[in-house]
Amino acid sequence: MSGIFYLTTPIYYVNDAPHLGHAYTTILADTMTRYRRLAGDDAYFLTGTDEHGDKVAQSAARAGMSPQAQADRNSAEFRRAWDALGLRYSDYIRTTEERHTKVVQAILGQLWDAGEIYLGKYGGHYCYGCERFYTDKEIVDGKCPDHLTPLTWIEEENYFFRMSTYQSWLIDTIQGRPDLVRPERYRNEVLGFLRDPLLDLSISRPRTRLEWGIPLPFDDKYVTYVWFDALINYLSALGGPGDPRFEKYWPACQHMIAKDILKPHAIYWPCMLAALATAHGKPREAYLYQHLNVHGYWTIEGQKMSKSLGNVFPAVAPAEKYGVDAYRYFVLREMVFGLDADFSEGAMVGRLNADLANDLGNLVARATTLIASYAAEAAAPGPVTADEESVVRAAAEARRGLDEAMGEFAFQRGLAAIWELIGALNRYVDATQPWALAKKPAERPRLDRVLVTLADAVGYLGIVLDPFVPEAAAKIRTAIGGTTPPRLADAVLGRLERLPAVQKLSGLFPRVGDSKSDKEARKAVAAMDTPAGVDGHQRITIDEFSRIQLRVAEVIAAEAVAKSKKLLKLTVSLGSEQRTIVAGIAQHYAPADLVGKKVVVVANLEPATLMGVQSQGMVLAGSTEGDGALAVLTLDRDLPPGARVR
Ligand SMILES: [Zn+2]
Repeated sequence: MSGIFYLTTPIYYVNDAPHLGHAYTTILADTMTRYRRLAGDDAYFLTGTDEHGDKVAQSAARAGMSPQAQADRNSAEFRRAWDALGLRYSDYIRTTEERHTKVVQAILGQLWDAGEIYLGKYGGHYCYGCERFYTDKEIVDGKCPDHLTPLTWIEEENYFFRMSTYQSWLIDTIQGRPDLVRPERYRNEVLGFLRDPLLDLSISRPRTRLEWGIPLPFDDKYVTYVWFDALINYLSALGGPGDPRFEKYWPACQHMIAKDILKPHAIYWPCMLAALATAHGKPREAYLYQHLNVHGYWTIEGQKMSKSLGNVFPAVAPAEKYGVDAYRYFVLREMVFGLDADFSEGAMVGRLNADLANDLGNLVARATTLIASYAAEAAAPGPVTADEESVVRAAAEARRGLDEAMGEFAFQRGLAAIWELIGALNRYVDATQPWALAKKPAERPRLDRVLVTLADAVGYLGIVLDPFVPEAAAKIRTAIGGTTPPRLADAVLGRLERLPAVQKLSGLFPRVGDSKSDKEARKAVAAMDTPAGVDGHQRITIDEFSRIQLRVAEVIAAEAVAKSKKLLKLTVSLGSEQRTIVAGIAQHYAPADLVGKKVVVVANLEPATLMGVQSQGMVLAGSTEGDGALAVLTLDRDLPPGARVR
């Protein structure tokens, strides 16, 4: 059965250069649409660039270019980045294209005619850098909370959208559709915003101040202000209401965004869509999107990515060094969808070596080599045993896990489900020992059963890995003799009865040499294993102690660290920020026992990479040497995450 699917990324601002954050959002959208296409759906993937506004006009003037020429150049740079990463978007929209401005003007005209827009007076504290007014609540010491520069008081006549009339409708809608905004933390954040009164939205700027925009169709002394221009790209790319593409794809629309633009997408946009539906004589929810999927931020080696720190990570760089697949795999696996995560080269190499080279690469190399070596005398496979049955069960389990996770945009869980199966297959090879069977002629039917199962399993991996690591998946399918486009429906184990012609495939993911960070990780692990004496005589001063920042942290997520018996990877909240902390407590706590607990962490510890995972702090735990008991420090009474401990 084929379904319709429409997924958008935000349109990226042409004043930015493509960086890791943009690449992540676009890789997620690419992975999801590849998955839906694999499942047989008609999946449409939209990305593009946002090209209007003060900042674009100003920087073009500084560069001695027209805003259009500069937008052309910078938009092409984003497009080149996505092409270099092999991202298969269906359409690339630019807000300076006529097809976009036409739809924006048509919609504004319809809302004006329907009385959804009025002319009013507006006064406010304006930041030229942000191109926006700030409310008294948002201002920090009279300054822009973003730029920390003084604001300018501006009073002018502007057009307003009657957004306030939609507040109670929007609250009811979000409460009635628990997964409209997901993951849940962002839904809660939106409901939090909506506890304050929703004001009407200023949607215009006088042309005397801003020329580079789309003129209002009912008053050309004004241009359209940012969100009424930018958000409408999701409709204009489909030709707008009435166009057959809109009628086909819009009802299946899902958006993918980073958390910084949650408010416009979760509040302004549903109200705009409700007003448009009303203007078209439809129920308010008629045009509402299906889901708003929100992801977190990447930090770089433990630090927030920012222009001022000079650590803005270029979008394509990791792929140039380690390949597109390794890059995709790392970002998809490392970030729990919705939470923040840290990007570091050491962690990426750790994942590449452990998951891709060792687990997957070795399995494919072993299986294809065994089949290619022993296929010549293949006969009829012997009966299926409990070993094969358990492999078939593991594959069915992996499919269930994958499909369920992808339905919830939980990319990391989808990959974890596939890697469970890869682990089971490596154990199957170890247990059945085909090389030993090959030495005994009487075991030939048994050997053939094992080889057929391996060929079947490798073919299965060539399908389910396709959305995540498309280049490797294509190589796997070629090695196993696949000629037709992969279909998710064929990812079922236990139906293959004859051995196909298989080519040896080794070095699918070459290991990356022992890096400095790998060595540091081992050192740090060794240091953790050394018990600290409690009977030391060295004293420290209160000042020395106060240099250690201890804070209350709430554990949000916990998982085992691959290949480690001792380490757990914890995602903790310190209130204003989230961190990844690796703790050597896996032999004492199951990950599920820790989620929701408030613990005490050293917050200003130098970050260290442990088994390829960067740890940004340390969880405090007490332990005894004799019987090896261990207990994590928790609170006697409740305190909010981030509270100082001293
Ligand atoms: Zn600002």
